[in-house]
Order: sequence, then C-alpha cells, then structure tokens
Amino acid sequence: MANLKLRDARKTYGALEVIKGIDLDVDDREFVVFVGPSGCGKSTLLRMIAGLEKITGGDLMIDGTRANDVDPSQRGLAMVFQSYALYPHMTVAENMGFALKIAGVSPADRDRKVREAAEVLELAHLLDRRPKDLSGGQRQRVAIGRAIVRNPKIFLFDEPLSNLDAALRVNMRLELMRLHERLAATMIYVTHDQIEAMTMADKIVVLNSGRIEQVGSPLELYNRPANIFVAGFIGSPK
Ligand code: ADP
Ligand code: MG
Repeated sequence: MANLKLRDARKTYGALEVIKGIDLDVDDREFVVFVGPSGCGKSTLLRMIAGLEKITGGDLMIDGTRANDVDPSQRGLAMVFQSYALYPHMTVAENMGFALKIAGVSPADRDRKVREAAEVLELAHLLDRRPKDLSGGQRQRVAIGRAIVRNPKIFLFDEPLSNLDAALRVNMRLELMRLHERLAATMIYVTHDQIEAMTMADKIVVLNSGRIEQVGSPLELYNRPANIFVAGFIGSPK
C-alpha cells in the first residue's frame, strides 16, 4: 500500500512563492505524471514529496500519516534523477548496492537484491562494468536499479529520460511502464514532454506557475481540457 495526499501544499523561497497551494491524491499503484513548462514547479513539488525540500505550508500525507517532517530515508520513497548521479569509480553492482551498504544490509542480502533488480532491468551481464563503459540507456537502468533494490513503496522520477536520444526514449518509456506493472508500485513521474505524459500516465497533473491547471486521465485532458492552457499544452483543439 502506498497512497499520498497533498493538501494546500506550498513552498516559498524568501518572499517568492513557487508552489501555491496544491491539492492532490495519488492512489496506490497509480502512475501519476506531473507535466508543465520549464520553471512551473514540477521538480520542487517532487522534492517536497521526497523530503529534499521543506514544505512551507499545508500537508503531505503518506499512507494516512502526516509526513511533512518525516526524514527522507523514512518515507518509503526512492528518487531517480535526470543526471543519473552514478559513482564513476564503482561497478554497476556496487552502484546498485551502495544505499543498502550504507543502510547496513549484509553482503549476501545486498548481492541477492542487486541480482534480482539486475535481472528485471536486463543488467545481469553488466554487473562488473563501470559507468563509463555503459550506454546512456544502460546508465539510466542502473539509476533505476539503485531505486528498485531499496524496495520503495513510491518511486519518484524527475525527467529520467531527457538525456537520452529519441529512439531510446521510446524504448525506456515502454520499459518503465512494464516495470510499473511488474513492481505494482506507486510512481510519480515528472516531465515537460506531453507525449511522455499522454502515453505513460494513469493520471496527469498539469502544472503552471506553481498551481494545478487540471488533473485527469490522458483521455479526459485530451477530450475535455479545462482551459486554453491545458488545451495548448496537451495539444488538442479547443
Ligand atoms: P521545473 O522543474 O518545473 O522546471 P522548478 O521546480 O525547478 O521547475 O522551479 C520552479 C520555480 O522555483 C522556478 O521559478 C525556480 O527558479 C524556482 N526555484 C527553484 N529552486 C529555487 C531555490 N532554491 N531558490 C529560489 N528559487 C528556486
Ligand atoms: Mg525540473
């Protein structure tokens, strides 16, 4: 089980309010996409959920418990970044197992979890390589593997595919959707790419200037955009 609620969630930097009162429900096992133009607050909102940014107003609830002040490591989440952030001196296996090592998991358990995740991600034959000897798509899979080994209830992705070329992006999109099925996890995925949003999401959250313009399924947004902004952004006529 992993659901998440935001109630009037806000973030200010000094006098500047960048998240201006967000109300949102993310259901167990849902694939939710935050979409919107650059600078609208997607990453900030995701980082507030992850605990990497302090929430300055309103509430975050995870599985019914207020989580505003819960330590990031205790929220049951794992985040995958756009920039991969792999350790260059470590092998794939070491990169994937590092968080477990820090958490004090035994080498045998670490090894088993890393092998299981590598199997799912088709990285089993690459476990001894270093990041510099991997393709972009393989590096991205290692970054995802690092999240999977921690067995999180909720995965958070911040534009994970934006450094990949177009063909690879299409592949990785499908792979992530398969992964979502297979892991039966709740996923929140940030992108500025409408096509990614439309093809991957159960629920799309359209953000603009720190506010939600509309929440709905891809079909709902396409057929019944709430306003000109959503219509323009999603690309349907209105
Ligand atoms: P997105 O991910 O949608 O491109 P961000 O969440 O990164 O947008 O940024 C939202 C807004 O918050 C932007 O106007 C950005 O300049 C501002 N912002 C982000 N981080 C900070 C910070 N540490 N201090 C001040 N302003 C910030
Ligand atoms: Mg961003």
